[in-house]
Amino acid sequence: MNNKVNILGVGVDSVTMQEALDKVELFFEERKPVIVATANAEMLMRATYDEELKNILNAAELVVPDGAGTVWAAHHLGYDMPERVAGYDLAQELMKRAPLKNRRIYFFGSAPGVADKAKLKAAELYPGIQIVGTRNGFFSEADEAQIIADIKAAQPDLLLVALGVPKQEKWLAKYKDELNVPVSIGVGGTFDVMAGVMKRAPRWMQRAKLEWLFRAMLQPKRAGRLIALPKFVLKVHSSKQKT
Ligand code: UDP
Repeated sequence: MNNKVNILGVGVDSVTMQEALDKVELFFEERKPVIVATANAEMLMRATYDEELKNILNAAELVVPDGAGTVWAAHHLGYDMPERVAGYDLAQELMKRAPLKNRRIYFFGSAPGVADKAKLKAAELYPGIQIVGTRNGFFSEADEAQIIADIKAAQPDLLLVALGVPKQEKWLAKYKDELNVPVSIGVGGTFDVMAGVMKRAPRWMQRAKLEWLFRAMLQPKRAGRLIALPKFVLKVHSSKQKT
């Protein structure tokens, strides 16, 4: 149904949103713990010098093409990549379907109070949703045992983790088996957006592939991170020349 596209050494699944949802549905049924990653250009760029992240992504059961940069790279390398599957949208689609399937969700990450606000928003948007626990993402190593115990006790089917890249991926890879949650996803700024702490780019900017510019304008502190984008373009281009 889908195949992996190698972008700078990371296998990204060439899937539509619907195919990604079907895959996650299977993971829920199989009930063995899996990690779903959402690969944008910044993450793929980071994986070129962060071997641990690269290995985690290549071991993840599903890596969706999050962002215009990832879709561009696949096309530039001559592969099929039907559409962008943004992590934020994937999380919303899964939340929308959760009440029907009686699925339990846990929100872990973001600043104190944000996951609770996101939980209220989820209840408003998706009536009947069961958010069975929340925990902010600022903690020390000494707190981790309690965090893990709390997540396990809540018995979620879906764990959304917002600790930023690559912390969320590394944390999940380390504790996935112990947590034994069927599906875990690193969701970056998703709770911030749901809580209204952060805005998502308007649709026209998303369509114009300018979501990165919108983020840089809202969070000038992050603007430095934008240098990863032209670097990504150049790296993908030179990786094409080599093949
Ligand atoms: N975050 C967190 N713990 C940390 C670092 C970050 O909970 O130690 C949260 C932060 O509050 C934000 C989310 O992680 O809600 C994503 O952060 P950022 O936007 O920096 O990440 P990225 O864009 O890399 O996913």
